[in-house]
Amino acid sequence: MGIEQSFIERHPESSRLYARASQVLPSGVTHDSRFVRPFPVYIEQAAGAYKWDVDGQRYIDYVVGHGALLLGQNHPVVLEAASAQLARGTHYGGSHQLEIEWAEEVVRIVPSAEVVRFTSSGTEATLMALRLARAFTGKPGIIKFHKHFHGWHDYVAANSKYGDSSPPGIPASTLDSVAVLPLDLGMVGATVEERGDIGAVIIESAGASSGQLPVPHGFLQALQAFCNERGIIFIMDEVVTGFRWAPGGVQEAEGVTPDLTTLAKILAGGFPGGAVAGRRDIMQGLAFLDPGAKGQKVGHPGTFNANPLSAAAGIACLREIADGSHQRRAAELAGQLRAGMNSVLCRRGVHGVIYGQSSAFRVLIGGPTVPEEADYDPRDLDWDVLAAGGNPERERLLQLALLNRGVQFFGTGGMLSSVHTEEDIAASVEAFDGAIGAMQEEGVL
Ligand code: PMP
Repeated sequence: MGIEQSFIERHPESSRLYARASQVLPSGVTHDSRFVRPFPVYIEQAAGAYKWDVDGQRYIDYVVGHGALLLGQNHPVVLEAASAQLARGTHYGGSHQLEIEWAEEVVRIVPSAEVVRFTSSGTEATLMALRLARAFTGKPGIIKFHKHFHGWHDYVAANSKYGDSSPPGIPASTLDSVAVLPLDLGMVGATVEERGDIGAVIIESAGASSGQLPVPHGFLQALQAFCNERGIIFIMDEVVTGFRWAPGGVQEAEGVTPDLTTLAKILAGGFPGGAVAGRRDIMQGLAFLDPGAKGQKVGHPGTFNANPLSAAAGIACLREIADGSHQRRAAELAGQLRAGMNSVLCRRGVHGVIYGQSSAFRVLIGGPTVPEEADYDPRDLDWDVLAAGGNPERERLLQLALLNRGVQFFGTGGMLSSVHTEEDIAASVEAFDGAIGAMQEEGVL
């Protein structure tokens, strides 16, 4: 039986739910990345590194809450903090001690963070970072990079994971305020000269798509120096990499000091939450003016900003991950998984490569790369090959074939938690072998 047919037969309840979902949700989903044909699996329970769907199938989870769950699902430390807080209230509509403690943890862990403002998501964090930079410099122009993803608000939608240069629904004047460039310092310099209005540069710290298209060695440092010289605000988006690449994110790992940092995901321990952190003088734009003083502060409301539930979970999570051991464990396991899957490609004579940074990985099937039984750092691979990507239909079938074997990737890759085990890795490599075998049988490889 073919991969898709087998998927359909194994998931009758998910199929029913998807038909229902499609009546009330466009394409039946609530996040573009969760869309997959013929339908997604519907999860009803999760624990540690596993999830179970409505058809009773168990999955080894490599979505890990879109990267939020470095500690896996329901880690006891986070669960306890959140449960205790639930009983004490989820929204005080007022100031509370937990938001201070949460901010103190961020300042302690993230090297460049002098002060913090919480938001409800990473999208809101990058929106606020750009607003702060524009208010501080008085310059509306922004530079972002090709394919770099910073959430879904209008200023960052161009040339990201979900949109080309003119995504629908966004006014041309908004798009015009943002220059989208390759990772080329010469072009950054030329654009700054030409436009004369550039107030900020924002970058996905490890490269586009959570590091799948890496930033070359030394680029961040050179960009920081360039921005510093020109008084341009250098924003590192560490929504994914923050607390994962190292406790203090890529900026700790690479020794770079951004002016502003955006955070989310692990920050809130699996609950909704984001933050902007950085230089006190820039963040001071948010402060209320003294009575009688002229000017206007930068506005910042948000019903769920630093809600006590996210704060309690976030504090517990950040304290747990602060010593770096969870990051190291997750990265070590990711290395084993990448090497294991590369050995499958090798053995089966399939072109492609599995690579990644830190505890992330991406599967790229096809192309000119002949794999070795090794782990790869993407900075050693051909950027153009990585950017060209794979064949979407093959990638879809791989996803289904893996789901049929109890493994859930996030698109063509994923991330690990520190509670995945060596047995999980071995089982996943075996599932990958079976999935690649099924694709060969089906004649798509
Ligand atoms: N920045 C980056 C680098 C991201 O990967 C994401 C989400 N995947 C965001 C910002 C947006 O975060 P959120 O989904 O919490 O809005």
